[in-house]
Amino acid sequence: MAVIEIENLKKTFGDNPVLRGIDLSVNESEVVVIMGPSGSGKSTLLRCITFLEEPNEGIIKIGDYKVDASKKNDRHRKKDIREMRKRTGFVFQNFNLFPHKTAIGNVMEGPLTIHGAKKEDARQLAEALLIKVGLGDRTNHYPAQLSGGQQQRVAIARSLSLSPTVMLYDEPTSALDPELVREVLQVIKALAEEGMTMVVVTHEMNFAKEVADRVIFMDGGVIVEQGTSKQIFENPQEERTKKFLRQVE
Ligand code: ADP
Ligand code: MG
Repeated sequence: MAVIEIENLKKTFGDNPVLRGIDLSVNESEVVVIMGPSGSGKSTLLRCITFLEEPNEGIIKIGDYKVDASKKNDRHRKKDIREMRKRTGFVFQNFNLFPHKTAIGNVMEGPLTIHGAKKEDARQLAEALLIKVGLGDRTNHYPAQLSGGQQQRVAIARSLSLSPTVMLYDEPTSALDPELVREVLQVIKALAEEGMTMVVVTHEMNFAKEVADRVIFMDGGVIVEQGTSKQIFENPQEERTKKFLRQVE
């Protein structure tokens, strides 16, 4: 069963066509890794899926909610976008934690403000999630007192606090020092093993080999090719994919 279905998604910035008609369907419990050169539209794709960026055209379906980007005046549009966002966890490259809130404060925020949870329930949930990402001993630390890897794990716990049906990660480890990459990828891998549906933009090939059910190679706003990590890494068909892989290896 598809959790995400995207049809003919198009996005133009000025006269720069950044997404040129993306079709993508992600099944329940599937882990899709997206790779591609800088500027190929990976971030824009994730941002359009959550309407952080307004697509020009295309249909986006998450769970039971569906928005046709062309129908700007649809009276259900706002509500549908809100419901879709509630079900979608988004983890960014730069953590985006609230600097004035502790780790547990950051994780409690969503349940309190979006789900209207009681404070004690939000605290219990947040504590459990911080333990899950290996930060049970850092609950009262502020972001500035945590390493980048720890901050990113808080960000993952924060996303999980809203019980998303799908998680989107935009280069979750590319701002980290190399020695901190592993602890973050381990957490993402553990979630994959629990059956979380995920779309991960990353250039970490070993992660893709271990965790991805499907690897998508994007370039110039289109999906150039896709397949298992074995197919894409060991036997790429398209010249653009081969060229990219030579550069990242
Ligand atoms: P990637 O994540 O693959 O590196 P992006 O989706 O960030 O690529 O960017 C794709 C293209 O869209 C780039 O040419 C970038 O300059 C352009 N772009 C992205 N965001 C904006 C924006 N807000 N305004 C104008 N151009 C943008
Ligand atoms: Mg990007």
